[in-house]
Amino acid sequence: MKEYKGRFVLASNNKGKIKEFKEMFEGYEILTLNDVGFYDDIVEDGDTFLANSLIKARTVTKYLKEKGIKASVIADDSGLCVNALDGRPGIYSARYAGGHGNDEANRKKVLDELKDKTDRTAYFECVIVKMEEDESYEVFEGKTFGEISKEEVGNRDFCFDCIFYSTEINKSFGLASSEDKNSVSHRGRAIEKLKQSLKNN
Ligand code: IMP
Repeated sequence: MKEYKGRFVLASNNKGKIKEFKEMFEGYEILTLNDVGFYDDIVEDGDTFLANSLIKARTVTKYLKEKGIKASVIADDSGLCVNALDGRPGIYSARYAGGHGNDEANRKKVLDELKDKTDRTAYFECVIVKMEEDESYEVFEGKTFGEISKEEVGNRDFCFDCIFYSTEINKSFGLASSEDKNSVSHRGRAIEKLKQSLKNN
């Protein structure tokens, strides 16, 4: 049997997030909500990334306790913040154009809103909460900077990636390899801090 350094439940059903966590968290056992039989919708009605991350972490931590499942919970709340749009879509990234997770409509709305703007600078932000059974927690944050392109580029299958030109790797996230994106991404940076903390504890 494979020996893991730790066991975590990722409080998300977002395929892009799950893929990136598994890529960057090698050596740790990462379970998804489906893996632990959690199928409810979590109402994310906080007004910051941290507030929403805490809502997800607490909901899943309570569920694991009820079911007697031993694992720490990792919640990731993240989004795209566009400067000319006063930071929108921000915490509303997953549901910017209405229904949850309509990536194509969300991208179109951002591109439409930026049509007449000269400032296309933007950043992604990610706030990760790692929570234990007693609801004690640690917070890890990461940002990455770039510009919104005029049109979609490449075919990376994660919402805003194909309209985000990273000025840190001089490449659209839509064309970047996983390795390139993870090395500078908001999630990559937050995960690096989380891994460092696990190493120190
Ligand atoms: P959450 O699941 O409520 O945190 O919403 C996250 C949303 O932010 C996703 O559905 C995407 O719209 C957007 N997002 C966050 N990180 C990324 C990324 O790395 N690439 C593309 N879109 C992202």
